[in-house]
Amino acid sequence: MRLLMLAPPGGGKGTQGIRIAEELGLDHISSGDLLRKAVAQDTPLGREVEGYMQRGRLAPDDLVTQAVRPVLEGTDDYVLDGFPRTLAQAEGVDFDHVIYLDVPEEEITRRLLGRGRADDTQDVIEARLRQYHAETLPLVERYNDVLMRVDGNRPPDQITADLLQRLKKS
Ligand code: AMP
Repeated sequence: MRLLMLAPPGGGKGTQGIRIAEELGLDHISSGDLLRKAVAQDTPLGREVEGYMQRGRLAPDDLVTQAVRPVLEGTDDYVLDGFPRTLAQAEGVDFDHVIYLDVPEEEITRRLLGRGRADDTQDVIEARLRQYHAETLPLVERYNDVLMRVDGNRPPDQITADLLQRLKKS
């Protein structure tokens, strides 16, 4: 089963993606983790994407695609977390279900400020939210046929239980 976690930054896609993957025996593949690893290892790709990540900007489509596509080859059992994030990245990329965690903006800002990651300052958060609206939200339409909309503004355990129940029924 191929699943995509779609949510605003700080919307819980990492937390829920890891849990769902474990419960269903799928690989959890996070584009943010892959890119952070490339930065930490100081690879050519890491050097190219580092500035974008620090500023909370999406890295260029071709670079991210280069990092993620090889990991998807030869497997059809994964939860993808953070890719695709633009319509260009979504070209030819299909899923059985796209899980959309819907979380109000005030809650997102509160969570991100509390998370304390290096790329979670107020300015960076605003930039990320703007780009999320412009570039990533159109994916909700793109994947409308397979969209599973979930109220993401609930305790994490409740969301996980709800998701698992719906996925098992589908
Ligand atoms: P995340 O851990 O998903 O919040 O990703 C952290 C950062 O990595 C983002 O703010 C972007 O700079 C970059 N990134 C991760 N996935 C993508 C993607 N699909 N397209 C562009 N940039 C990405």
